[in-house]
Amino acid sequence: MFDLSGKVALVTGGGRGIGRAVSELLARSGAFVVVNYRSNAEAAQATVAAIEAAGGKAEALSFDVADAEAVDVAVRDVAKRHGRLDILVNNAGVALDQLLLRVKPEEIERTFATNVAGAIYCAKAAIRPMMKARGGRIIQLSSVVAEAGNPGQAVYSASKAALLGLTKTLAREYASRGVTVNAVAPGFIETDMTADLPEQAKASIVEQTPIGRVGRPEEVAAAVLFLASDEASYVTGQVIRVNGGMYV
Ligand code: NAP
Repeated sequence: MFDLSGKVALVTGGGRGIGRAVSELLARSGAFVVVNYRSNAEAAQATVAAIEAAGGKAEALSFDVADAEAVDVAVRDVAKRHGRLDILVNNAGVALDQLLLRVKPEEIERTFATNVAGAIYCAKAAIRPMMKARGGRIIQLSSVVAEAGNPGQAVYSASKAALLGLTKTLAREYASRGVTVNAVAPGFIETDMTADLPEQAKASIVEQTPIGRVGRPEEVAAAVLFLASDEASYVTGQVIRVNGGMYV
């Protein structure tokens, strides 16, 4: 089930956390995975090495998703070298958490440049080879806070809500070309992004989560794999919530 043999996937921010779990799972399912990173080359190389050690195929590729031109050049290059691009996972993201009154303009700019503009640039670049092939999958990493809100995450939650609007609009624009566009909205997942949260805050999140624990990157990756698969051919414009019941 969920055989991605012969497909090429690009996972932005694929070297660490959820992106790494997604890269490994897509590769294990047969896809060639392009593991994008911005600055942590070591993590991206380690992900590629883990994929290859498990018998899969991958390469690391550095570009900043917030740089429109760099995205365009990189995605064209991937499509040219591999002859196709079937799956784009817009996973790269930053969370610069702050109560609204303390938020600085540069934090708003960086969050939106990475989380929103970055996803738009990547989708725009990936749509071309997907339309040509009359098929493709775009999956955005949104968040539970896009729908539920969370004190201290005004800017981040606004950026993740923007991805839901993007998902629904692209789903309508490209359905007739065989390209599906969906989002995965994780709850609290244990990665570098959430590592610095005080224990008390973590305990309170667990308390609000009916499943009674935080999530693992692999549990998010499983939803991404489904959406990337041929089996998800009639699913578009949807949000799969992987949040332990935190928001229902
Ligand atoms: P993470 O551990 O902090 O990793 C973030 C990844 O994004 C890194 O690989 C990083 O690359 C990459 N990245 C950041 N800015 C980039 C840029 N400008 N260009 C290219 N890559 C960039 O994050 P995570 O927890 O795995 O989260 C992954 C996604 O899921 C994010 O979109 C996040 O908002 C979302 N999410 C996470 C949670 C959670 O609880 N963890 C919950 C809901 C949603 P480098 O390695 O090069 O730095």
